[in-house]
Amino acid sequence: MVQSVNIPILDLAQQYANIEAEVSDAVLKVLASGGYIGGSRVLGFEQQFGAYIGVSECVVCNSGTDALYLALRALEIGSGDEVITTPFTFFATTEVISAVGATPVFVDIDPQTFNLDIDQLATAITNKTRAIIPVHLFGQPLNMTALMALASAHQLAVIEDCAQATGALWAGQKVGSIGHIGCFSFYPTKNLGACGDGGAVTTNDPAIAAKIRMLREHGSENRYLHTQIGINSRLDALQASILQIKLRYLDTWNQQRQAIAHRYHQLLNHIPGIVIPQELSGGQGVWNQYTIRLQAGERLGALSNNYRDKVRQLLQQQGVGSMVYYPLPLHLQPVYQNLGYQLGQLPVAEQACHEVLSLPMFPELSQEPQEQVIYSLKDCLSN
Ligand SMILES: *Cc1c(COP(=O)(O)O)cnc(C)c1O
Repeated sequence: MVQSVNIPILDLAQQYANIEAEVSDAVLKVLASGGYIGGSRVLGFEQQFGAYIGVSECVVCNSGTDALYLALRALEIGSGDEVITTPFTFFATTEVISAVGATPVFVDIDPQTFNLDIDQLATAITNKTRAIIPVHLFGQPLNMTALMALASAHQLAVIEDCAQATGALWAGQKVGSIGHIGCFSFYPTKNLGACGDGGAVTTNDPAIAAKIRMLREHGSENRYLHTQIGINSRLDALQASILQIKLRYLDTWNQQRQAIAHRYHQLLNHIPGIVIPQELSGGQGVWNQYTIRLQAGERLGALSNNYRDKVRQLLQQQGVGSMVYYPLPLHLQPVYQNLGYQLGQLPVAEQACHEVLSLPMFPELSQEPQEQVIYSLKDCLSN
């Protein structure tokens, strides 16, 4: 057993410590201003974030979940409509499809990238299909060129779930600026995280942006006149002021994540039983997670999920944090039993759920603790 260490999967306190003076100054100014909802900081952040992503329109809201919900509502997707998406993502991606009354249709993933398998997408399109929600999972961009070609051939809307991929590029363009609508989360663990909840919708379509603004304000364009059933979804001024500061650091932080991923690639290459994440040429990922596959091989055969979970437990005993994103694919969630999917129907996603393990990944992770992670991991594998 190697010496015990303490390396978390993510260290937000360390990030705050590095920008404490700027953030606390901004927060105190907002507190003293008395303006907590809306105002110049919220509008300023909308403008800056839209410019960063490279779109003409940005509408902020309360969360990534709300951003996705508002996007579907703005496209008037609802009862009787189908939306194609991935079973290997956070539940929010499909929860909103159900929340607007539409039906999620699941297509299996690509084993290399964990993202939707675009070659299989076409087989899922029916005359009820209205949209596709691709997810740039773990910060790796999907092949948007291929996806947009397919979508336009079938006249489908594309809503990019960019919650884990703020700043990622496909063919030189930021994700969230390629599809019809981009949806972002500022949940603290995302690449651009607030100190609380937050989200944004990006688009180049002013009509969609106007509709989303109306829907996020109780379906009201003019105060006390309601033309739709909307929701209340705001990014508050405190969060906006913090995000304005953090946005200035985002590219540096993403470069640090890329350097850490590169180091992981080198340290983990050629270790039997470990499959390292692949990047598509044409894309530049931002590594919200560094997710490996642990393959039990001869060790435990079919009980591969027990193997992964055992390794994770051993790592934890040595003080190395890790997470399983995600342990159960969405087509097999209890709430979706009524959709009628069977175990074995989307085998690549199901296998990923048994094998994946996300390792410590945050911009401040320095070389020595990162090498410790690998040292511990090798030790756990040989146990
Ligand atoms: C985090 C996340 C969301 C939801 O974002 P919230 O801000 O937590 O509501 C949606 N999709 C994916 C892929 C996510 O990782």
